[in-house]
Amino acid sequence: MALSRRVFLKSGLVAVGGLVLKAYGVPEQSSGAAGSSGEQGSAGEPRSDTDDWEPAYRKLEREGGFEQRVQEAFEHLEHCDICPRSCGVNRLRGETGVCRAPQRVVVYSAQPHFGEELPLVGRSGSGTVFFSNCNLRCVFCQNWPIAHEGRGREVSEEQLASMMLSLQRNGCKNINLVTPTHLMPQILKAVRLASQQGLRIPLCYNTGGYERAEIVKLLDGVVDIYLPDLKFMDPDEGQTYLGGAPDYPDHAKAAILEMQRQVGELHTDEHGVALKGLMIRHLVMPNRVSGTREFVDWVADNLPRSTYVNIMSQYRVEHRAFEYDEISRSINSQEFIEAIEWAKEAGLSNLDERSLSQYEMHKRRAG
Ligand code: SF4
Repeated sequence: MALSRRVFLKSGLVAVGGLVLKAYGVPEQSSGAAGSSGEQGSAGEPRSDTDDWEPAYRKLEREGGFEQRVQEAFEHLEHCDICPRSCGVNRLRGETGVCRAPQRVVVYSAQPHFGEELPLVGRSGSGTVFFSNCNLRCVFCQNWPIAHEGRGREVSEEQLASMMLSLQRNGCKNINLVTPTHLMPQILKAVRLASQQGLRIPLCYNTGGYERAEIVKLLDGVVDIYLPDLKFMDPDEGQTYLGGAPDYPDHAKAAILEMQRQVGELHTDEHGVALKGLMIRHLVMPNRVSGTREFVDWVADNLPRSTYVNIMSQYRVEHRAFEYDEISRSINSQEFIEAIEWAKEAGLSNLDERSLSQYEMHKRRAG
């Protein structure tokens, strides 16, 4: 089963073993083997199938535009409007907004991850960096100790860059930035530092989708792979389940269109490993709450029908979901079957392989 960032975080809470934080003087929460991918290399020399390929951020650095991009991004922290919450707080002075992010980046874990979508994983895993805090306040958050309580360790941009290089040395196929939105300027700075030290694998921006399209434009020529959620299609659900974000559907849809403009459809290497492009996630929720039918219709009407779409089945009752009748249970087989069948009817032709396996399993279960 493809694991979402929610499920991965849940497992991370139990087994923080893959942390590479310790290598940078950052205390761990528990010990364990980091980077056990089996592929080793020296700094800046990834054993990658992408050796002839250049990530966007390296081209931007070569052409001289990266430094200014970082500066522009940091300017948005002074009266923070990095995301649609537009809190207006001065993040550079440590003021906090809805996301509760402190001035420095907080990382929960950095490790090879094998539960992401198959094109991100390859043989050596996706180089996942999990950031703490979040600009969405989902009542059903699967990682609330990290996203809501901010568990993790503060790191400098230099340390974050070193983590990225370590993941590359371990053979990871990409740097997968999980919940990056509220920390985008600091991450950009770290990517630039890492690039100058030899980072050369694709950069994946793995976001809950609550983005300002104007801010996403700052990532043009930096990010290679976008992996946004489109969680809800109705403002009322955004208001109720996302911590008062009725504008979520409009912002997420506009951001996804901007992402598509930048990177287009998913491109892979000869082994099926993602190099560039857009991959969208949508979680099926009980009682049709997440608007799956509207989701697939929107994708079909606004994006190429061959867009990579992962319709996920792993909703669980977490955090405060039990307080809301409609989402206080898991989905049933019929709810997932109808979701995939709607996607097929809409003409979506690039559905996630493991979602389709789940569909077959639910069909057998339903008889
Ligand atoms: S990133 Fe955080 S502080 Fe900035 S606007 Fe969004 S929620 Fe508010």
